[in-house]
Amino acid sequence: MTLIQQYLTKNDCYKAGVAMTPKGVMVHSTGADNPSLARYVPGNATIGINRYGNHWNRPGLDACVHAFIGQLDGGAVAAVQTLPWEMEGWHCGGSGNHTHISFEICEDGLDDPHYFSAVYREAVELTAMLCMEYDLDPLDDGVVICHAEGHTRGIASNHGDVLHWFPRHGKTMDDFREDVAKEVDSMTESKIRQIVREEMASVEAERAAQPASPWAVDAKVITRAKEAGISDGTRPGSTMTREEGMAMILAAVGK
Ligand SMILES: [Zn+2]
Repeated sequence: MTLIQQYLTKNDCYKAGVAMTPKGVMVHSTGADNPSLARYVPGNATIGINRYGNHWNRPGLDACVHAFIGQLDGGAVAAVQTLPWEMEGWHCGGSGNHTHISFEICEDGLDDPHYFSAVYREAVELTAMLCMEYDLDPLDDGVVICHAEGHTRGIASNHGDVLHWFPRHGKTMDDFREDVAKEVDSMTESKIRQIVREEMASVEAERAAQPASPWAVDAKVITRAKEAGISDGTRPGSTMTREEGMAMILAAVGK
């Protein structure tokens, strides 16, 4: 996932700055054939520049979302975060604004399978990241929904997104929720692996920094080993690798 931050600080929603505790994620799509992220944000060299002033970083709009997924200037798909996640957005015209983080997927002509699979994947990864950040289970009722589902649940205005698009490419919102849950599992696993790796490295660093034990000092183990050319005497508390053991034994037997 590529996630770029460009807050829409001139949008009235950002200026209102109402705090929110996220309880879910609502998926939207723009309803206009324009996959370019720069259509909705001012942009930069990477995103592309909006030269028409019709982006959402201006006062007088009654809408704002937390992120857009669409194309960067070079055509690659990315996400741009446009509001802090813990600030209410104006995205669904209902009480979902008080509970759900929102993002818009920039629509193209709706028929290109390559564009669809790229933005779908980006949406899965962004939603998974948010579920992890806010400890949300994507399979719990009402947590991950699209705008159309929000309307059915009575928390959003009557819009069809994204059910006019996803099914054209064989995806339902249930598929989306399951894909998000799988992504959460895989992100959790790599996060745990990372924590274990860091913990092991920190234990090893602690051992390497330990001074010699009193018994080894009393027995002059380290000085004698140094004199005998068996060890350089450093890191007395470290674990020893097999190759270090081999080198010490060879030194001890004089080979
Ligand atoms: Zn919508």
